[in-house]
Amino acid sequence: MNALLKSQPTVFVIFGGTGDLNARKLAPALYNLYLEGWLPEQFALIGTGRTKLTDEEFQGRMLKDINEFSRSGKVADDKWAGFGPRVHYQAADVQNAETYKDFASRIKELEKEWKAPANVIYYLAVAPNFFPIIAENLAKAGLTTDAERTRIVIEKPFGHDLESAKELNLLLGRIFQEKQIYRIDHYLGKETVQNIMAFRFANAIMEPLWNRNSIEHVQISVTEQLGVGERTGYYDGSGALRDMIQNHLLQLLCIVAMEPPISFSAEEVRNRKVDVLRAMRRFTPESVREQAVRGQYGAGWLEGAQVPGYREEPGANPQSNTETFAAVKFFIDNWRWQGVPFYLRTGKRLHRSASVITIQFKDVPHFIFPPETADTMRQNRLVISIQPEMSIRLQVQAKRPGVEMMLNTVDMVFDYKGTYVAQAPEAYETLLLDVMLGDQTLFMRGDQVEEAWDLVMPIVTSWQNRVSQNFPNYSADSWGPEVAEALIAKDGFHWFTLPLSSKK
Ligand code: NAP
Repeated sequence: MNALLKSQPTVFVIFGGTGDLNARKLAPALYNLYLEGWLPEQFALIGTGRTKLTDEEFQGRMLKDINEFSRSGKVADDKWAGFGPRVHYQAADVQNAETYKDFASRIKELEKEWKAPANVIYYLAVAPNFFPIIAENLAKAGLTTDAERTRIVIEKPFGHDLESAKELNLLLGRIFQEKQIYRIDHYLGKETVQNIMAFRFANAIMEPLWNRNSIEHVQISVTEQLGVGERTGYYDGSGALRDMIQNHLLQLLCIVAMEPPISFSAEEVRNRKVDVLRAMRRFTPESVREQAVRGQYGAGWLEGAQVPGYREEPGANPQSNTETFAAVKFFIDNWRWQGVPFYLRTGKRLHRSASVITIQFKDVPHFIFPPETADTMRQNRLVISIQPEMSIRLQVQAKRPGVEMMLNTVDMVFDYKGTYVAQAPEAYETLLLDVMLGDQTLFMRGDQVEEAWDLVMPIVTSWQNRVSQNFPNYSADSWGPEVAEALIAKDGFHWFTLPLSSKK
């Protein structure tokens, strides 16, 4: 596969080349792919933005960004000598159809130099309101006609609600074939997320347990210490449900809940994931009230520093009704999962940053040990830590050493740090390489995005229409509002605290 890619001339056009995403994620990812020998021999990156820059000035910005943000540390001079000259810049206002001719001639020049046609990838790292105009202008300039060689990468958020997601899918579908469209959810590129597939489908012992007979409930928690900060402009129109649950958390749920695909091909995997979303129980206004809760952080203290509440963040609306925390109970109406609740929660300014999936197994059918051991007895749990710790822990009961029969919970642990020497790639490295390889397995198909929107829309609408009377309702450094505790407590469960070794 590598040999095939290596021989394929490739042009990577980054709309939003002067933006934050390129600086922190895309530029370091492409550089690391270069370092590890994954980039084609004939490769060029063209950054764009309205800012006027020469190629050299843009190369200087990229070098600075890579030095600051790359997992591989400071760039060595000899490595930059190989990568830097492949970086180009083309100033352009994406709304001006005329400027797309400049891209066409830059690409032609490169193809002439390489004496071969190139695969061209258009990466849309710009605000979502520009996605349609860029796609249309690319088409007008004749830059999208070769379905085998051109691809478009769309950043999150894909739509603001079901209607806008459908509209965007329709528009893209008029210009591109589905095989050319790569909708990014960077969670899917994370090493630990991909490992859930390996864990489930490369181990025969899991399948007999992976269903309603053995599993009591599932929790997916993505918590962040960071507040919204300067991003209130974007965040206030979005909120935790749209920003995290509609995409990242539901994607994690799909991987946990999907049926085994018949192969690891993109279409098979994506078919099984969309099956999960289609089987998820839809919400009514009553079930929204029973199964979905929201929160907004107030001012407080975090790690010794005073932090503002959401409504006091720079540029925030002092009466904002936007949730910075959401917890939702979902059900999947199929044979495997009938009656098993999936609790998803996410929020900002919480006690610790961590992304963890916990599978809680059912209790033993009959307890044979002395009654005094019951206190320390705990149901089995499988804890999949996605970040910052990258591990899978199976929590089992064992006999505590001593003359008495006492029980104790112990962890059987697989952790990346202790097992592998090689550094895991960043999610964007995996995803950008997959785009170049033409592998869509880790990208969302149009129907998947629409199903996810369809599922959450009743909650979105209900929360928009009902102004919260008690915001802010949680303080910094907590685990969220009390209503979230109540949501799960009424079913007899509690949110699991994250593995102790996970700091931050
Ligand atoms: P950003 O820092 O605000 O950058 C926006 C980029 O768009 C800049 O390069 C800007 O270039 C360019 N731009 C704005 N108006 C333009 C126009 N009329 N013509 C041409 N270029 C224009 O935004 P960002 O944080 O990089 O985010 C970009 C996209 O990625 C958004 O959709 C965001 O939701 C998504 N995303 C970002 C992150 C992240 O970590 N930053 C994570 C996930 C998803 P000039 O100023 O030079 O014109």
